[in-house]
Amino acid sequence: MLNSGQQHRSFIMRSKWLFPVTCRPLQNAWLRVERGVITGFGVWPPRTDKSINVIDQGNAIIAPGFVNAHTHLEFSSCQKPFDTKGGLHEWIHEVVSWKRKQSRPSTAAHEKITAAIASGTHESATCGVVALGEIATSDIAYNKIAGRLRLRVFQEVLGLERSSINSLPPRVVSSFRDSQKTSRRGVAVGLSPHAPYSTQWHIGRAAVAAAQNNRVLWQKSRSTSCVIPLAMHLAESMFEEEFLHNQTGPFRKLFNDLGIWPEHAPKLATTADWVSLLAKSGRGLIIHGTHLVDNQQAMARLNRHRHTLALVVCPRTTQALSGNLPPLTEFKKSGVRVCLGTDGRGSNPDLSIRAEAACLIDAGLVTPQEALPMITSNGAWALGFEHRTGSIATGRPADFVILKPSMPPKTSDRAAAAIFDATTEVVSTFRGGRPIAGDFT
Ligand SMILES: [Zn+2]
Repeated sequence: MLNSGQQHRSFIMRSKWLFPVTCRPLQNAWLRVERGVITGFGVWPPRTDKSINVIDQGNAIIAPGFVNAHTHLEFSSCQKPFDTKGGLHEWIHEVVSWKRKQSRPSTAAHEKITAAIASGTHESATCGVVALGEIATSDIAYNKIAGRLRLRVFQEVLGLERSSINSLPPRVVSSFRDSQKTSRRGVAVGLSPHAPYSTQWHIGRAAVAAAQNNRVLWQKSRSTSCVIPLAMHLAESMFEEEFLHNQTGPFRKLFNDLGIWPEHAPKLATTADWVSLLAKSGRGLIIHGTHLVDNQQAMARLNRHRHTLALVVCPRTTQALSGNLPPLTEFKKSGVRVCLGTDGRGSNPDLSIRAEAACLIDAGLVTPQEALPMITSNGAWALGFEHRTGSIATGRPADFVILKPSMPPKTSDRAAAAIFDATTEVVSTFRGGRPIAGDFT
């Protein structure tokens, strides 16, 4: 038996199926973990080591721990999503009104957000997730509440008020400072220009510069190189283009209604320009991108920069807000890495990344074999964690999940399908050889 406080992290796990992702699935497999690191795997039996504890998981499936590349954990205490029927602009109106009611800055409000984030990390680990891409809107001590997940915390920046690259809005400057604070706390960081309709172009350029600064700070303190990714909600609504070109339509009405439309017209950029700017950061995450396929110039840039960009689709949120699923066929053709996110509980009923994948599989948009890298290796790459998590490989930290299907799958195709079947149970989640959720026996 293992327990969550166990220091000695050496064992061999035996299972009916093992999906390393880096190579074909193995039937009747073993996985050896020593001091938290994978030191071998293969088809049973392993070449010995009698002194190591063997844990037989029977008919279980072992896969790399899952990666949820996009979420907003501050909404994790929501019992149900905000009303999504009116589309993105009306949903934003509801969210902003709710936040205005909730969060007059105070210790109590801060504690409430912290508790919601802690609950979201716990729920995620229970769903088999070991790494998360989180959008932060305030200064939170993520190092204290991570629940042992690997976190990439993207500090959000936005603003329509009159400003320039040399005179940024105070809250943007404070967000950059919060991001540096998070980095000094030892948490991996990124920055998130919120969306093209809410973020002026010079704020995006400043974010790229700040990411570069953070990278230098990190390297100085740790003597290792790192990536500081940028994440942005892009082409999420069908009304976004109209607003970017003419500053009219439902987004203009939204900003008027919220009383935040500035006196001077904001300096907005095109979707295609944002695609290039995100690529310039070295690792850019395009969140949603639902309407990119209607924009030839943006798609051409996406294709040109496919080696430094990832598309993060959030199927259930997209379906709820737009009535359609993300255009996976076109995304796959573009050659860009596709990964998945749950978005937050403000637009989604739960934080199950498997349920996001199942939504695409059930619609025939991806096969289970295609979906698995989306919630493992592709997500890990997007978050800059590709050397730490997202696959079962010798020398890597032992991040994996144990799943128990309701019926033992007889073929690898059925086993792949079982990973996403709602009747399959997530038994436990391991990070670095240590259980972080579930039943550890
Ligand atoms: Zn989002």
